[in-house]
Amino acid sequence: MENKKKDFSEWYNEIIDISQLSDKRYPIKGMNVWLPYGWKAMKNIDSVVRANVDIKEFQEVSFPVLITRDMLMVEFEHIKGFENELYWVTKGGKEKLDIEMALRPTSEAAMYPMFSLWVRTHADLPLKIYQIVNVYRYETKHTRSFIRIREIHFFEAHTAHRDHKESEEQMAEYMEIWKKISSALCLPFHVDRRPEWDKFPGAVYSLAFDTALPSGRSLQIGTIHQYDDNFARNYDIKYSDESGQAVYAYQTTFGLSERLLAAIIGIHGDDTGLVFPPDVAPFQVVVIPIPSDNREQEGFVSSVCTVLTDHGFRVKLDNRDAYTPGYKFNDWEMRGVPLRIEIGGREVGEKSVTVAKRTSRGRQKIEFKELVPGISRLLHEVREEITARAAKQFLELSRRDKSVEDMRSYEGISLSGWCGNRECSDTIEKETEKVVLGINISSPGDAKCIVCGKPGKIASFSRTY
Ligand SMILES: [Zn+2]
Repeated sequence: MENKKKDFSEWYNEIIDISQLSDKRYPIKGMNVWLPYGWKAMKNIDSVVRANVDIKEFQEVSFPVLITRDMLMVEFEHIKGFENELYWVTKGGKEKLDIEMALRPTSEAAMYPMFSLWVRTHADLPLKIYQIVNVYRYETKHTRSFIRIREIHFFEAHTAHRDHKESEEQMAEYMEIWKKISSALCLPFHVDRRPEWDKFPGAVYSLAFDTALPSGRSLQIGTIHQYDDNFARNYDIKYSDESGQAVYAYQTTFGLSERLLAAIIGIHGDDTGLVFPPDVAPFQVVVIPIPSDNREQEGFVSSVCTVLTDHGFRVKLDNRDAYTPGYKFNDWEMRGVPLRIEIGGREVGEKSVTVAKRTSRGRQKIEFKELVPGISRLLHEVREEITARAAKQFLELSRRDKSVEDMRSYEGISLSGWCGNRECSDTIEKETEKVVLGINISSPGDAKCIVCGKPGKIASFSRTY
């Protein structure tokens, strides 16, 4: 396998192939096939997301994939932002359609006409919904698995509130939800406030969660947007307040995608292969029997699997005859399973198992009667180790740069003073190929603009995916 540090891009493509996460040989560029192992991982990520929004009383919905041209044209900024990326449906059978329809690139234009029917009085608010669906964007740039694709596995939450104050509270709640999700996925990130020209089309402001892959380039892995009443005015989402007056609702959104999986692959993986955080690993534990003459082995292996499965662990028993234990060890290490259990004749005799962690060398013994707390503890340790390793790597991939020259000599995310003017960030981009990700909210501070010297704030700059 490719060396991860030396050629990250090659390593990334290769590990997705050999670990069988997805197959990019489907005959449409940017539309890949999810293979069972990759789809399991994605569904586990979705479960983490669902659990964290459900607890905040979001309701899951499922909207149609088609949006008419008329529905789209309602919000000009919004349609303008997406016009180069839309797929159009123009025919039904042999007939040309009277009204052309687009495949949703995101669902504002699908949902908000319905919001205007659903929202009647202040008692209908807040309205908090989400869906996990595919959206379609005609990418013209070079496509890359889970990072830049044309059929996107998308989580989108949409809310409506009484006023700005309540929609700001929603933005704060998103941050709280995101911290839980990113912590389960062991992902480090900066929060950057996108500049005016790079915010979501139609939003008042957009906050992005940016992480860094080992190439030094940043990867946007989530966004939250404050719309205020911009969309409500266009889609006529009004409610009658306590005094009976019709008032426009205030709205927000939160978006995530399979880029979360891309970040897990890129950040946690190593030269041996993938490393899955226990919360989302397709299998948390793989059980590998070591051939022996012990007649009780099969029964003991089966009890170990049953006890763990009954306690909610995701367990894979690898009893393939055609492969040696050594081959299986390597295979599951490459596929990033957090824990490996080995059971040979000796373990059967001692009523114990031998366990190895994906994140460190060495093995340890766990008594059968201690199996459940023992495996829980080790999974917890793996999560801590992955988190610490990712945090250390992220520190190395971002630094304070006080001049354009410094910035140019550094591959990672540069944190530098910026006045907020586009001319200055354009100059930086020309000189360093790094674009401004926005004012850095995670490490706020005042600093003189490194181009014009005027007062400014610390902003993030990097090459991006
Ligand atoms: Zn400046």
